[in-house]
Parts: sequence; C-alpha cells; structure tokens
Amino acid sequence: MTTGQTHLFIPGPTNIPEDVRQAMNVPMQDMRAPDFGDLTKPLFEGLKRVFKTETGRVFMYPSSGTGAWEAAITNTLNPGDKVLMSRFGQFSHLWVDMAERLGLDVVLCECDWGTGVPLDEYARVLEADTRHEIKAVFATQNETATGVASDIPGIRAALDACGHPAMLFVDGVSSIASVDFRMDEWGVDLAVAGSQKGFMLPAGLSMLGVSEKALEASKTSTMRRCYFDFADMMKVNDDGFFPYTPPTQLFHGLKVSLARLEAEGLENVFARHYRLAEGVRRAVDAWDGCRLCAAEPKWHSDTVSAIVVPATVDARDVIRIGYETYRASFGTGLSKVMGKVFRIGHLGDLNEGTCLTAISIAEMALLDAGAKIELGSGVAAAQAWYRANAAPALRIAAE
Ligand SMILES: *Cc1c(COP(=O)(O)O)cnc(C)c1O
Repeated sequence: MTTGQTHLFIPGPTNIPEDVRQAMNVPMQDMRAPDFGDLTKPLFEGLKRVFKTETGRVFMYPSSGTGAWEAAITNTLNPGDKVLMSRFGQFSHLWVDMAERLGLDVVLCECDWGTGVPLDEYARVLEADTRHEIKAVFATQNETATGVASDIPGIRAALDACGHPAMLFVDGVSSIASVDFRMDEWGVDLAVAGSQKGFMLPAGLSMLGVSEKALEASKTSTMRRCYFDFADMMKVNDDGFFPYTPPTQLFHGLKVSLARLEAEGLENVFARHYRLAEGVRRAVDAWDGCRLCAAEPKWHSDTVSAIVVPATVDARDVIRIGYETYRASFGTGLSKVMGKVFRIGHLGDLNEGTCLTAISIAEMALLDAGAKIELGSGVAAAQAWYRANAAPALRIAAE
C-alpha cells in the first residue's frame, strides 16, 4: 500500500497532464471512417506550428523517437553516403550507431561528454569538403544523457558560410515543444520529435518534420525502407489517413497537448523551461561537491540537468534511495557516466513546486548516499531564484 504520488523526475516519459490523460480515454474508433481526418488533419497543422515550418511537412509514425531517426535516414539518403555526425552522450551515440548499421559512411567528431556539437570542427570539415561528398549533417539539439544543448543555427551558419548543400538533420526529441526550435528559419531538413517528452504523452508516437529539399531527396534516395516510407504516408495523409493502423488514442492526447502548448504560448513554454531549469542549476551550484555534467553555461539544457556527484558517491545509490525511500524517480547515468551522474528531467508539465520537490528529495537521497551536502541548501537557492523570477500571476479563476 502506497500513499501520495510516486514522483517522476526523469526526462521522458514525462508527466502527463490530467486533461491529456482523460482525452485518451475514449472508445476505439474506425480509422477509415470518412470523418477520421477531422481528428488528424488539425494535428498535422498544429505540429507544423510547433516545428515552425510552413514549407515543410510533418509525418507521424506509431513508434518511439528512434523510429523517426530511422525514417529520416532511410527516406533521404543512399547506402554509403558520407554524413557528418558528433558523439557526446548516449543519444548522439545511438544515432551514430544507427547510421553506421544502416550503411552510411560516418565522419565522426568525438567530443567530451558534457560538451555538444563542435561548431568549429563542423565548419572545418564542411569547408574542406569542396566536392560536397557529405550529404547530411547531424546534430542532437539536446543530449538527454548529459543535459547538453547545442547551437543549431550555428550549424546552419557553418553550412551557409561555405555554401555547402548538405541536408541538416536534427534530433529534437527532448527539445522540440520545450525549447526554441525553428525548422524553416534554421534551415533544418529533418527534425525528429517524440511523444513522451515535451509533448507530455505516452511513448508510441514519433513526429518528423521534413523540408521540401528532404522530400525531393526522398524521391531518388535508394536506401531500403518500407514501414517508414514517406511515399506511402503521403498517398493518404492529406486526407487524414494512414497506410496502417495509427495510434488513435495518442492522437486524442496530442490534440489536447497541442491545445495546451498553444494556450500557454510557445514562447511562454520556452521561458518557463528556462526559469525552472535555472532553479535546478542554482540548487546544484549550492550542493558541495556536485556540479552539472554540462561543461559550460553555453551547453546548459533547459529540459534536463545531469548532475555529477562527488567521486566518493555512487550516483546509482542516489537514484535507488530516491526511489525506494522517497518514491521519486530520477534519471540514471547512461553508459560512460553511469554511477557518476543522476538526472533531473525538467520538461513538459511541471512548475516551481515540481522542481522544488525534486530538489528536496535529491538532497535527502544525496545525503543518504554519502554526499556531504547541506540539507536545504539547494532548495533555498532555487526558492530565491523562483521568487526573484516569478511568472506573471496566473489568473486561475479565468481559465
Ligand atoms: C528520448 C530520446 C530519443 C528517442 O528515444 P525513444 O526511446 O526511441 O523515444 C532520441 N534522442 C533523444 C535526444 C532523446 O532524448
């Protein structure tokens, strides 16, 4: 018998707002009914507004984010194509691994975990590629394993500076709908998102923004594909249908989550994520012997903080104690940083109180796991920040 809430402070799946959850509790319906498009067509339009694309189009696949990675690659590239990628955490690593397994020739920039896309190195490689053998440049906008954000417009600038025609692929699974993203303005050709992070839904729906240029490339790309083929989707999507059974319940949830994002206003959503993230960062600063995995402020992620614990502490103990003793889930350290970091996800449906609970439970678990931090130190630092940067008063009654 447990009481109260088991807190979920991981960077995905994130907490689902009550109205989104309720919206998914509907009877099953016919996905070939003539009015099915009334549900789905506005979703494509809503997603285009979130991706900030007017000239591109958005696909939705019944898959986790990994599926949209695969859709992006297999629809637009050819076996053996040269692509430029960088690795600085588990998610950027997995995308590299996929690209290699799908037969791409990866030019890889190995970076320290705690840093992000190396703009200077990308610029150097692109400038040197005068024969334009590199067909695509990949970037993980937000490396969820290390809490590192990368500069996507900076990559566009590097491409433009040398007139390089490569397509720009962006993994925005833990950033799109939470932090600034502008598909058209930044010249992003393939933008990957997933339902269980900023969109505040269960896993199982991936979204892929595709530019006109990438759609054009898909017409001649020879990589093998079937389930993810854009062409099959395009035959029926415009009428609101899908080439196979779509996840209708998730569509009902997405309808409400898009409405929530629009009601709050994307710019306000981004500002809220910054404000909440900064409180968590202030807390980490206040904890003796702890620091962010992100090496410099320019890498700070507003959706997840990876916290390096003192060398004498095993971060797995912090996570275990957090869960077993205080019924709170923190994100684990993945791969190289296992045991060294724990993560606080701060994206999606959350507010100051959510973050303060995460910080205060983390303090107890840290202390229990042997860290010499002062109870309340992080909470106080975050409180001071939240008070000084309070959001405009909510008019709850008017809602
Ligand atoms: C969560 C995540 C993914 C995709 O993971 P799935 O489990 O397949 O949804 C990809 N990239 C990043 C940066 C992520 O955070």
